[in-house]
Amino acid sequence: MQNDDKIYISYDQVHKLTKETVERYRINENFKPDLMIAIGGGGFIPARILRTFLKRQSGQNIPIQAIGLSLYEDLVTSDPSSDPDIIGTQVIKTQWLQFGPSYADTCPLLGKNILIVDEVDDTRTTLAYAVQELLKDIEEEKRKFIETNSAGTPVPETKLAVFVLHNKKKEKRMELPDPSIVNEGRYFAAKETPDKWLVYPWEANDIDEHTKKSSLQENNE
Ligand code: 5GP
Repeated sequence: MQNDDKIYISYDQVHKLTKETVERYRINENFKPDLMIAIGGGGFIPARILRTFLKRQSGQNIPIQAIGLSLYEDLVTSDPSSDPDIIGTQVIKTQWLQFGPSYADTCPLLGKNILIVDEVDDTRTTLAYAVQELLKDIEEEKRKFIETNSAGTPVPETKLAVFVLHNKKKEKRMELPDPSIVNEGRYFAAKETPDKWLVYPWEANDIDEHTKKSSLQENNE
């Protein structure tokens, strides 16, 4: 970390930024998500707020699937024997997609526009891993589809997009394994920030103090 002063983010800022970003990228008109995949825990609240501003043709709410990913370094820093070369490049699944019984014989990802949601893109390791693992699941569904459909039936196209509240402007450790996300304009960052630590409201012990710090910073911008 270059600088140790922190940026305090308020609930109001998160809410307004989310709304403004859906409009700025015309997400309802262009990407039209069918499903959100929230990376826990930071992606949960942004995904729920996003749902307020994302509309589906059917008028129904966009479903949110939760996945849990932990950076390996968070889990092993107490282990002195851990190999420093792999620390930070490994992510562990603590929770993965779970579709209800009504999806048992379906391919719930195939043919969908899927929006992956997290609060911050720092080194991009977590997002890259999430995309990599989702691509594997989509490949598996494609295989199943081809097996169960007559030859020549076109395989429905699945598109991935990414939404983050903050993208830190820095050299990333990883690239997203599906380059079309960036190349075709489906990487939606509400705000670009310098490489500083961001403090989110859901992490605050004293929310009044946190909100004060956030509005002071906002007024000084
Ligand atoms: P990445 O894999 O992009 O390096 O980091 C992703 C995860 O690290 C985020 O989902 C978040 O949990 C955590 N993280 C990285 N930078 C920050 C930050 O500035 N503030 C907070 N609160 N979490 C961060």
